[in-house]
Formats: sequence, C-alpha cells, structure tokens
Amino acid sequence: MHEMSVAMSIVDIAVSQLKESDAARVLKVNVAVGELSGVEASAVEFCYSACARGTAAEGSELVIERVAARAVCPECSCEFHPEHSLAICPQCGDFGGKIVSGEELYVDQISVE
Ligand SMILES: [Zn+2]
Repeated sequence: MHEMSVAMSIVDIAVSQLKESDAARVLKVNVAVGELSGVEASAVEFCYSACARGTAAEGSELVIERVAARAVCPECSCEFHPEHSLAICPQCGDFGGKIVSGEELYVDQISVE
C-alpha cells in the first residue's frame, strides 16, 4: 500500500531529524500533500500512528496540509483548478496546462522536545 510507505518515510525523516538535535521525541510533523500527489491524506494519517509505534515519533501528531491544485494554460495563460494531472483549460480547451502546484509531497516542519 502506497500510503503505508509514505507514512513510513515520514516517520524515518522525523526520527533522523530528531537524532540531529538534542531532543528526545517528536511532537508534531507537518506534511504538505498536494491534491494531485496521488496520496490519500486520511490513509497516511491512519498509517502514521501505526508506523510511529515503537519509535521516537510514537504518539506524535501528524498535521497534513493539503495543497490545492493549480495549473496555468500556455495558450491563453489563464490560471485554473485542474481535476487531474492532465490539465485541460476551461477557457480554450488546451490540453497542455502546466501544473504549478498540487503535486507536492514533503515534510514541511518537525517539532521536537
Ligand atoms: Zn487556455
């Protein structure tokens, strides 16, 4: 399951970050998940606590920041909200819309103590 491996990477990143500081445990991890990243945020939340069990991240809070999808049309340069990673311009119907946000998946911030 994709979300399980995403959750495991988040735990790994948080724990290795912790090792670089003098802190004892992870309190909170903020993760940015784009609308088009193909990752189900609620499934990651669900897997996270299971993955964190037995690590220094056990009991920490996972905060998922959903990033809305945005695309720009190369033809009419309008900005719109694409439904898929294939961005079809609602104004001129061009298929070559460039995705400018919504595909991100990264650990934004880690709080430790
Ligand atoms: Zn257009």
